[in-house]
Parts: sequence; structure tokens; C-alpha cells
Amino acid sequence: MLLLRDAATRAEVGRLADEHATLVEENHRGTADLSAVHAAKLVATLRAAVDCPLYQDSYDEKLRDVLAGPGGVDPDVVLHEVFPGLPLLAKGALAASGGSAFTRPLAEFLHYYESSGTTGNPVAAPKAIDDLVVNTINIGALWAQILQPDDVALILINAPFAPAAYQFEKVLEYLGVMSFRPWVDNITGNYHRVLRLIDELHANVFVGPPSRLLELLQYAHRNGLPAPRFDRLFLMAEQTGPAFVRHLERQTGATAYVSSYGSSETGTTAVTCAERNLHLQTHSYLLELTDESGTRPIDGSPDRGELVVTTLDLPARPLLRYRTGDQVEIVGTDCPCGARTPVLRTLGRGQDVVTLSGNGIRQNDLEAALWSAPLPRYTVFNYMLVVRDRSIVLLVTTDGEPDEAWCRDAAERFTPLFESMTVTVRAVETLPPLASLGQYLGWKLSRVLDLNDEANWARLPEPINTLVAESLRQLDSEGAC
Ligand SMILES: [Zn+2]
Repeated sequence: MLLLRDAATRAEVGRLADEHATLVEENHRGTADLSAVHAAKLVATLRAAVDCPLYQDSYDEKLRDVLAGPGGVDPDVVLHEVFPGLPLLAKGALAASGGSAFTRPLAEFLHYYESSGTTGNPVAAPKAIDDLVVNTINIGALWAQILQPDDVALILINAPFAPAAYQFEKVLEYLGVMSFRPWVDNITGNYHRVLRLIDELHANVFVGPPSRLLELLQYAHRNGLPAPRFDRLFLMAEQTGPAFVRHLERQTGATAYVSSYGSSETGTTAVTCAERNLHLQTHSYLLELTDESGTRPIDGSPDRGELVVTTLDLPARPLLRYRTGDQVEIVGTDCPCGARTPVLRTLGRGQDVVTLSGNGIRQNDLEAALWSAPLPRYTVFNYMLVVRDRSIVLLVTTDGEPDEAWCRDAAERFTPLFESMTVTVRAVETLPPLASLGQYLGWKLSRVLDLNDEANWARLPEPINTLVAESLRQLDSEGAC
């Protein structure tokens, strides 16, 4: 998996890989003694983090003594007394911490990465050899249910600062699947060469964020090239609800998997199986849910709340009770794939709800209206919501040139979502580049433009700016009638 010159390191990595693969197998079968695994790994994690400046207030004298003691630590004490007493770590605190969460000198990491910085400063997220091995095996163990040795995978992740593209390349290597990883300029967005390679190499697997795939499809359409077809889509890094998944399947002929869930800083906390369920990686994390009713461990029973992550296999930069800001749901039923680990559904970020006139609109609601059933005559590739006062303009790209009547009919689908607001649909040739940056910005910042903030007008290039201004003027005058 890794070509290493140093024989001792090579042997150590091999041992870790074998041991971890066995643990993952046992956990999937339901035969692992998970409490014992958690207790042992938590003690190792707490010992690794004891000198991190980030956690200096998390350890009281008693805990320091327990960890420093010569004898073993009682698993019950560490899991049920020590752990629940540790403070929760806020997203902002981690972002501000820089390298103060590291337990090793920077040069001992293998690669430097950082998170996209959607909600503030990017978080340093370098990869060390041990966490790379574990994360790769965690993903590979479940993706092996889906991928075949003769598959050819396109990894289209335009985020060189973040670890995702490299990480997924390692997973495909681990499974012996050929991949290629081109890069497309965010601004020029020229996909000619990517489309040629998909065709020539018979690439049948897409790995990347959904809005990047949409961008590729639209590019093919605009340039009169055949739309690429795939067998399987491995979607990641963006909230992709059922209607969005169905839309991408219709456009590519593929079976789509929301392939993994996690972040640059936490690693991959959940991975898809062949049944399209995201399985929590409970052998590598202590996972909890928090909300106004308190914080409790995820025990596999149905529950929902904000996910809190404690890493057990990230000793180089451990996270202790890290609040992810992501709303998730634990399904609470066994998955037919046979893996006996809890199944998770992502519900999007708390900050990704658009509040208009007292209504909370979520991405899934809007996309269900747009894509649950295809609109007649024209396919809508992608969209952007522009909001000003009580008016909404839904900009869409389509595979044709829709007329006024089509736009009016389309708008009716959205009226029930936006009570007491006027909705108009406008078909455009291209959307602002913003719309393909969901991976970096999250849904709300990439697909919803609030023009009540004057500064946002600058984010609309011409001719879209004029078109939006005209649409809003029309809505204003209609509203006045
Ligand atoms: Zn499953």
C-alpha cells in the first residue's frame, strides 16, 4: 500500500494494516469486544494528547495521575467516568488552534493538508502514516463490496489543499482498482480532456462531489459532446439527498452511492456499503450525539442530533469530543449487507437551512420539488436560488431553451415551499462558478444568493446579473398589481 524504504517502518505499517483489517472484519461481523477496544484506544489517545496545548484544560490532576500510573487503567472508569467528563471541543476552537492539537513534530507527518474552511479558518489536517493506513482500510473494507478489479475510476476532486482526493486514490490502490485524478480549473472549467479520458479509458466509476459531476455534464451538453455514462457514482463532500441522487442517476445511467461521510479534520467517520447505507466506523471513533437534551453515546438505537467525534485512530492529532456541526440520524435497524455497525443518515449542516419569512427551507425540500420527478420537456441540470425581499428567482441550466410558459409551470412546483413569497424560474446558459463550489462552501453559500446583502450582487457575473435584476423588477411590478 505504501512503498517505504525503511524496513522497520515498513514492517510496522504491515503489522498495523493486518491488525486493523482483522478488527474491522470482526466489528462488521459483530464479534469484536468493542468496549475493550474503545477503552484501550481511548487511553492511548488520552496519553498521546496529554501535552497538546489545545487540551491543556481538559485534563485535571486526577486524570493525569490515572494516565501516568504504572498499572493498567480500568476500562469502566475511562469509558464511563473519565470520558463523559471531558469538555466538548467547538469547531472554532479547533480552527484557531493551528498545530496545537498535534502530538508529533510536523516533519513526522506524511502529507500536509487542511480543511476547506467553509465556516471560518481552515483547520490543519495533515496525514500521518498510521492514520492514513487505518482510514484507507476502513473505507476499502466496505467499498470492496461494490468495486470490481476491472473498474476504472475517475477521481474528480478539485481541492488540492484537502486530503480527500489523495485519500480516495489510496483506497482505490488498496483495492487494486485503476484510477486517474485530473484537475480542472475552477474558473475556465474546461472539461474537454477529462471527457476524452473518460471515453478512451472506459472510466465507469466517478469519485467526487456531485456539483462537480453536474458541471461536467453541463459542459458536455454545452459543447455538443456526448454526456459521460458511468456504472457507479461515489459521491462525497456535499449533502446529497434522495432527489439529488436520483437526478444524477438519471443523467449518467449509474447507480449512485453517497460514498463516505467525514471531514478533513475527523477522517472518514462513515462509509457506504453495497446497500447504499453509511456505516459508522465504530472501531476507530467514539461517537456521540448532542442537542438541547444533552450528550449521549451512539449505541445503535434510533436517535438524531449533532454528531460529536472522538478519534481513536488519529494519534498524531487527536480530536476529543469534537462538535462537527453536522446534524445526523441513526437509523437503528440492521443493514442487509451484513455489517453489524450502526447506519447513519446525514441531515445537512445546521447552518444550511434558509430561513425565509419564518419558513426553514432545506436543500432536500427544494431538490425534491426540482428532481423527484423530471420536469416535462427539459432536464434541469443545476440550479441557484436568488433571494431578495419577498422575491425568489430560481436560476436553472437545462438541456434546451425553455420558453416563458415552461418557466411559469416550473415555478408552480416551488410555490408551496415559499409561502407568501413570489417565485420565478429563469433558464440560463451557465450558472455563476459559485454553483459548482458546494464542496468548499456548503449548500447555502454555493446555491443560495441573498441579495438583501448588497455585497452579494458582485458575486453574479454578467449576463446573469442583468437577468436577475430584470426578473426581480418584474416580480416587484407584478406584486404591485
Ligand atoms: Zn450495509
